[in-house]
Amino acid sequence: MTTILSSLSGGLSRRSFVAAAGGASLAAFAGVGRAAAAAAPHVLPPLPYADDALAPIISAQTIGFHHGKHHKAYVDNLNKLIAGTDLAATPLEGIIAATAGKADQAAIFNNAAQTWNHTFYWRSIRPPRGEVIPAALKAKLETSFGSVEACKQELAAAAVSQFGSGWAWLVADGGKLRIVKTGNADCPLTQGLRPLLTIDVWEHAYYLDYQNRRADYVKVVIDKLLDWEFAVKNLA
Ligand code: MN
Repeated sequence: MTTILSSLSGGLSRRSFVAAAGGASLAAFAGVGRAAAAAAPHVLPPLPYADDALAPIISAQTIGFHHGKHHKAYVDNLNKLIAGTDLAATPLEGIIAATAGKADQAAIFNNAAQTWNHTFYWRSIRPPRGEVIPAALKAKLETSFGSVEACKQELAAAAVSQFGSGWAWLVADGGKLRIVKTGNADCPLTQGLRPLLTIDVWEHAYYLDYQNRRADYVKVVIDKLLDWEFAVKNLA
């Protein structure tokens, strides 16, 4: 059974994502997914920590709405939109690949990508317990950005400057690490990039706790909550 969690486990390679869009690989995935399709093709993964585990940086109230209402709605809407279609048995990454850039499939793309993005976001952050940047990743960050601090500053700048709703990402682009930002539901997978970490900058991610102060939310998330060990898993 292909769940969101299992599809994210161990990270996603550009190769597997691109392959998922291809006919032969898609057929292979569909064979796996068909058995699960009758039940619930996509499920809301439980949070990897308690609702209040990120407080006071992100309150239990924000998490409750964000995970329990917003993320859940994307999953529920996706399941409704694909029911009875050719995409009903397609894994999440395959749906994103198959619908990206197609105006007549925008609703499916938006809900699929938001389902994926949020699952990735919950794992990009974790309860504050002191920053741990594994040595191998630190070396890559220094090669690509000059320093860890420069990487953090570029990530913060992308998150703050994203106009309207969207996401800021640390990604691998071949052997190099980069910062990118995406609007609304867009996801770096569609650009052939490998996501390593993300920060949600939709207002629902921070407004209850920070109102209009997006920069304050972004800074404290980067300094206290980012899970650099998750980034390493996605590089593997
Ligand atoms: Mn969100």
